[in-house]
Amino acid sequence: MANYDYDIGILGGGSGGLTVAAGAAQLGARTLLVEKEDALGGDCLHFGCVPSKTLIHTAKVYHLMKNGPKFGLPSVEVKPVDFREVARRIQSVIQTIQKHDSEERFCGLGVKVEFGTPTFKDEHTIDLNGKSLSAKNWVIATGSSAAIPPVPGLEQIPYLTNRDLFSFDRLPASMIILGAGPIAAEMAQAFNRLGTRVSVIQRSGQILSNEDKDMADGIMEVLKEEGVKICLNTAILSAKDLGIEQEVVIQTKGAAPLSLKAERILVALGREANLKGLNLEGIGIPYDEKGLKLDARLRTDHKHIYAAGDVTGAYQFTHAAGYEGSIVVSNAIFHLPRKADYTYLPWCTYTHPELASIGKNEKRAKAAGIEYDVWVEEFKDNDRSLAEGEPVGKIKMLLDKKGKPIGVQILGPRAGDLVSEWVAALNGGVKPMTLAAAVHPYPTLGEINKKVAGTYLSSKIFSERVKKGLRFFFNLRGRACGPT
Ligand SMILES: Cc1cc2nc3c(=O)[nH]c(=O)nc-3n(C[C@H](O)[C@H](O)[C@H](O)COP(=O)(O)OP(=O)(O)OC[C@H]3O[C@@H](n4cnc5c(N)ncnc54)[C@H](O)[C@@H]3O)c2cc1C
Repeated sequence: MANYDYDIGILGGGSGGLTVAAGAAQLGARTLLVEKEDALGGDCLHFGCVPSKTLIHTAKVYHLMKNGPKFGLPSVEVKPVDFREVARRIQSVIQTIQKHDSEERFCGLGVKVEFGTPTFKDEHTIDLNGKSLSAKNWVIATGSSAAIPPVPGLEQIPYLTNRDLFSFDRLPASMIILGAGPIAAEMAQAFNRLGTRVSVIQRSGQILSNEDKDMADGIMEVLKEEGVKICLNTAILSAKDLGIEQEVVIQTKGAAPLSLKAERILVALGREANLKGLNLEGIGIPYDEKGLKLDARLRTDHKHIYAAGDVTGAYQFTHAAGYEGSIVVSNAIFHLPRKADYTYLPWCTYTHPELASIGKNEKRAKAAGIEYDVWVEEFKDNDRSLAEGEPVGKIKMLLDKKGKPIGVQILGPRAGDLVSEWVAALNGGVKPMTLAAAVHPYPTLGEINKKVAGTYLSSKIFSERVKKGLRFFFNLRGRACGPT
């Protein structure tokens, strides 16, 4: 049997790679982790989830400070934002979490961490910093980067990506955001709240195009009300550096081309898998810009080379990367065959209000040819959201024709937290009846979960048929009051 340096080698020390490394080493596998940057943590920690959610919260506090009168408070003069202070807070949060993702901690778990840029020499060996390192199994977990589309002139201007957003020494006066996906929507609202004039350019007819339009429109209305300019059905024709400002020429369907100018341009038009330079071609592993070709057990054409995280081209979220990491550990270390199943993978866009989703929304149910009924409850009927001045949004529960929940979308305050109850319910096969009967504390936002399940149940319990039965058996005498 061949003798390898390691049982498992992992390329990429982000959400996916760290999950595999921690799991494999703790199970006793001799584990190598290779990271290209000089710190572990990946995009999520350094340029993604952590800095963006920190920025979003800072922007929310600033927004609330300016909106005191809406809560019966005196209005206050707030000073303009000093972005260096904001960036400092972001860095301090990153540094705190970095300890958890440090080389020392992983070494303590038994993982050998190496920094550098690896290339595959053959399907069991990489070249790294002039050394050859071999492993029985490999995991590609190198993440993704902002995709840069071939817009004429774009490559020649100093555009921003997510890597540049959290370390400005000055708040940009204006920003054009190309794209209207989750990153674009979150950053549009946050920078606009901090004082940047923001325009969003979107090719299709809605923002957040994976979501149901009614839910995405709810967010768009809030963004517009707060002052974000949103151009839908709009193509980006060209970009140009004008010195102090950048120019983007756009064309909205049916209108003449229009020049937009801003201090900064953020490209948020999707992601491209980080796979170039690994010599995957050389060892016969096919891929495209979306990611690797994998089977359900997350194996490439070489069954001992796995993938986890954004390179799978599936769902580009930190928790998806972690889940895929656990699938890889199961397959490669435990040798317990496990397939990735994304049926109930939840996600959330952290605008204010948030938009969370699990299972099928209407778009996905229609695409899958599933017949469904929709049950809706609105946050304006939830006592806690009214108390907190958060009346915007609703929950949509989709049931198949047998009454089984197939998906839930929540647009509203703390939707990302509220969807967790549905994570348990859908994964556990819990019926709406159980949720409706379970006592929830009052007054909480979470009551909306119980209420939407209860509304469905009421339609069954309070039916004419049931009333007739009760009248017959127990001699109930019907209404004591009615509409005049
Ligand atoms: C602005 C922004 C906000 C986001 N917000 C959220 C959120 O709120 N919630 C959420 O779930 N997800 C969010 N995401 C997505 C999330 O960050 C990713 O899905 C997640 O980081 C993917 O994990 P990964 O392990 O695939 O990649 P990463 O975490 O990026 O890790 C990949 C690692 O591989 C390294 N690497 C790259 N190339 C090589 C190479 N050749 N050799 C060795 N190492 C290499 C990289 O340096 C990196 O450390 C956000 C992303 C962005 C950009």
